[in-house]
Amino acid sequence: MDNNFDVIVIGGGPGGYVCAIRAAQLGLKTACVESRGTLGGTCLNVGCIPSKSLLNMSESYHKAHKEFQSQGIEFSDLKLNLDKMMSSKNKSVQTLTKGIEFLFKKNKVTYLKGKGVLFSENDVVVYEGEKKTSYKSKNIVLATGSAPSSLPGIEIDEQNIVSSTGALEFKEVPKNFAVIGGGVIGLEMGSVWSRLGSNVTVLEYLDHITPGMDKEVSSEFLKILTKQGIKFKLSSKVTAVTNKGNQVEVSFENNQTSQKEVLLVDKVLVAVGRKPYTEGLNLNKLGIKKDPQGRIEVNEKLQSSIKNIYAIGDIIKGPMLAHKAEEEGIAVAEIIAGQAGHVNYNTIPGVIYTSPEVAVIGKTEEELKKENINYKVGKFPFLANSRAKVNNEPDGFVKILAESKTDRVLGVHMIGPHTGDLIAEMGLAMEFGASAEDIARTCHAHPTYTEAVKEAALAIDKRAIHF
Ligand code: FAD
Ligand code: NAD
Repeated sequence: MDNNFDVIVIGGGPGGYVCAIRAAQLGLKTACVESRGTLGGTCLNVGCIPSKSLLNMSESYHKAHKEFQSQGIEFSDLKLNLDKMMSSKNKSVQTLTKGIEFLFKKNKVTYLKGKGVLFSENDVVVYEGEKKTSYKSKNIVLATGSAPSSLPGIEIDEQNIVSSTGALEFKEVPKNFAVIGGGVIGLEMGSVWSRLGSNVTVLEYLDHITPGMDKEVSSEFLKILTKQGIKFKLSSKVTAVTNKGNQVEVSFENNQTSQKEVLLVDKVLVAVGRKPYTEGLNLNKLGIKKDPQGRIEVNEKLQSSIKNIYAIGDIIKGPMLAHKAEEEGIAVAEIIAGQAGHVNYNTIPGVIYTSPEVAVIGKTEEELKKENINYKVGKFPFLANSRAKVNNEPDGFVKILAESKTDRVLGVHMIGPHTGDLIAEMGLAMEFGASAEDIARTCHAHPTYTEAVKEAALAIDKRAIHF
């Protein structure tokens, strides 16, 4: 095999594999190095895909348990077969990761199995066991992703004290389950195990969950999850997590009142954020600059401090999201090919796949206030949406923020059924620079959840019809 490439991508996650496919589509001779043994990165192997599979199946179980009887769907002997549920999740992961291998073949991307290490600005060495192979490339794209963070003194053993990876693999439903961190992972995984029967307690350092989110959505979210049975200990500082035989003792204190408490649980999930993963790449030797958070510094063309070495995804600034990594992967491939690759960071949606879902895009009300931007608010509750009503999903609302003078949509914040899908329309609207009036004048099919979006746009000028 000829070991010279136009582009070598290190890391086969959503950033890396998408970049490699796009580069190959553009006629560049491309290779992608991945050390995990399967493609798809964190997202497909231990992140987005297995967590969404468990969220979906646990919701079906929960509905069968709690809602079906009242809808006249009667049965006896409903049982959870966790082994089967896990196999189904693993099968989905396998199908999707194999699918990327197929896409690589179809697009003529060379898949290099092993750990990629930089030796110069054009040299990559791939280590696979004892085997060491050298490659040359005109351009290198770093896409090595992220790893779970922990807290001082807490050792994640993936048995009883777990990261998200361990929480996707429990062999039985923990009777008592503590989650440290009321962010995205904590609330998604907390929801999964709560629906399957765990007594879940979330310990969050701040006085609110999901930091950075529009405050109104965040407090509604807290109310809904509490109603579902998840317990929250806010303003809680965890001071120790200790294995006690088959159980774990979690000590924490209220950071406002200093009141101390102890929880004895079967499993603890540490979900306090993730950190960029650049270990073993040799960045220091090459002089590639990192910021104080350990992220590779890049310019607007996603070039690192060495011009032909680019970085994308979780190892650079911005939200740690698969679709953000993908957009950057495409942009870098196009930039390398001489095109005008570009990422619009103002229109990257964020979705939390709980029930109901939370979906956000653009500025929050808090950000607009801080930036002294005058804005109008249009809000519509799902309680008044006919589809949500007949489907017994009345919780949540759609909130649109539009610039006062121009009516241009600046942010949309939703909590409610299928909002993870509804947010796409808002992304498109914002990409086109739409006004709230544009959305209000767009015909939305009846009866659909999308009508809540139209009504929120109408509510900007106090003319919502159904509320
Ligand atoms: P990664 O996906 O982390 O991929 C990097 C790859 O590089 C890895 O496979 C790693 O093995 C490989 N690698 C590292 N170093 C080397 C090396 N030296 N040589 C070769 N290979 C190397 N995001 C969403 O948008 N939606 C979700 O629903 C969602 N759910 C999530 C759920 C969980 C539980 C977790 C943990 C994350 C979730 N995320 C979600 C975040 C998402 O997974 C990441 O943002 C995304 O995977 C980042 O993509 P990436 O390509 O930058 O890195
Ligand atoms: P996060 O940043 O979403 O949440 C971490 C939470 O832990 C925060 O609420 C924070 O205040 C809290 N925290 C921090 N230190 C603490 C302490 N000492 N004690 C108690 N609480 C503490 O991080 P995460 O949930 O670990 O997720 C990591 C990344 O993965 C996120 O950036 C997210 O974007 C990505 N992810 C995305 C999805 C999705 O898109 N649906 C799903 C899972 C993960």
